[in-house]
Amino acid sequence: MTVTVRFAPSPTGRIHIGNARTALFNWLFAMKNKGRFIQRFDDTDIARSKQEFSDAILYDLHWLGIFPDATEYQSRRFDVYDAAVERLKAAGVLYACYETPEELDLRRKVRRTRGLPPVYGREALTLTQEQVAEYHADGRRPHWRFLLPNFAGDPQQPERTEIHWDDLVRGEETVDLASLSDPVLVREDGTYLYTLPSVVDDIEMGVSHVIRGDDHVTNTGVQIALFQALGAAPPVFGHHNLLTTASGEGLSKRSGALSIESLREDGIEPMAVASLAVLVGTSENVAAVTTMSELAERFDPAATSKSAAKFDPDELFVLNRTLLHHMPFAEARDRLIVLGISGDRAEAFWLAVRGNLDKLADAPKWWRVLREGPGEAPEFSDDDLGFLRQAFDLLPEEPWGATVWREWTDRIKEATGRKGKALFMPLRLALTGLPSGPELADLLPLMGREGTLARRP
Ligand code: GLU
Repeated sequence: MTVTVRFAPSPTGRIHIGNARTALFNWLFAMKNKGRFIQRFDDTDIARSKQEFSDAILYDLHWLGIFPDATEYQSRRFDVYDAAVERLKAAGVLYACYETPEELDLRRKVRRTRGLPPVYGREALTLTQEQVAEYHADGRRPHWRFLLPNFAGDPQQPERTEIHWDDLVRGEETVDLASLSDPVLVREDGTYLYTLPSVVDDIEMGVSHVIRGDDHVTNTGVQIALFQALGAAPPVFGHHNLLTTASGEGLSKRSGALSIESLREDGIEPMAVASLAVLVGTSENVAAVTTMSELAERFDPAATSKSAAKFDPDELFVLNRTLLHHMPFAEARDRLIVLGISGDRAEAFWLAVRGNLDKLADAPKWWRVLREGPGEAPEFSDDDLGFLRQAFDLLPEEPWGATVWREWTDRIKEATGRKGKALFMPLRLALTGLPSGPELADLLPLMGREGTLARRP
């Protein structure tokens, strides 16, 4: 059987790093098992779902390095769900209910005061034909609940009914169906809640492994019962811990916090996002992993912790720097061209500056400094000015080798007696206009003798 996974967000906003964790867990699982990855948009909520968000999510996934084998939209599959509804009705496990939210609320309160679990009491199952006719005459439309298989003979007398599964992440899991209300699958207006379309699609699309956040553990109990009611074997389930900020706050699509889009705009590399999103909250160390296949090697769903994975967004910047500092020119080349950095000096330039970059988009700043000189002419004391003029007069003749900086500064030391910061800082300022930056030994050959002399104050 081909391993088939799916990532199933509702397109109601941009995805954040927590959603990326789910997407990547699925992607890496598929990679490891030579399986298929389906991008499924859970867009049955027509009012809140937007095509622009589905498109943006696909864009974000591509940017991260996830390329779905297929893309599906639930909003285009209502006839499939309608057919499943008819089957459930025919099997007598989908029943009409007419309560308003207020009535349900009141009933829950009554059950609580009687010491009963606050679940739906299945009162709708005992409605007479007259009562139903009255509701219809009043203009009430039914919503539809799935009758959970948690009773022996009388649905009004639920009994402890354990659903078990061996979770890819959490190991042995159990949900007692008697502790749950029969879930509403179809609303009054005929629209679908998430539960049924998800199961129907998982069956029809041959999903073998459902990997998602642990906020769905209870749903899994219900969904396994639904798979069985539809005559299908349930897939394997895996529920990973959710990401929270250091203060324990959850992430939300709506707030836009830590959205993949905002991280991209901040200049964070996709593999920095992927490394953190996958490795945090697992027994693996968080490290800057450079390729998806290397990340797949480190990925083991069973090594994921069961408690929430707190993370510090600043870690992303640390990982980003590490990735850039080691990024080979071949990998940076095309992106540098887009930033206007090309030609026969581009590689030496990259190797000289990459160790100083927080983000790749900072590279043009150094390119400009090298080609055009300091943005603003630095101001020097008379003392430094005298020193610098003398120093520039000692610049070695061409041809320059790799050791030219060494030769030059040795000459300056000898002639002026300056050393350490007193020697290097005025030179750095004169050459780059900035008090810190890449090694001057690497920059000097890139400026060339003529370019260097042009910086003589
Ligand atoms: N649309 C659901 C969500 O975003 C999908 C859950 C699932 O993977 O089944 O939470």
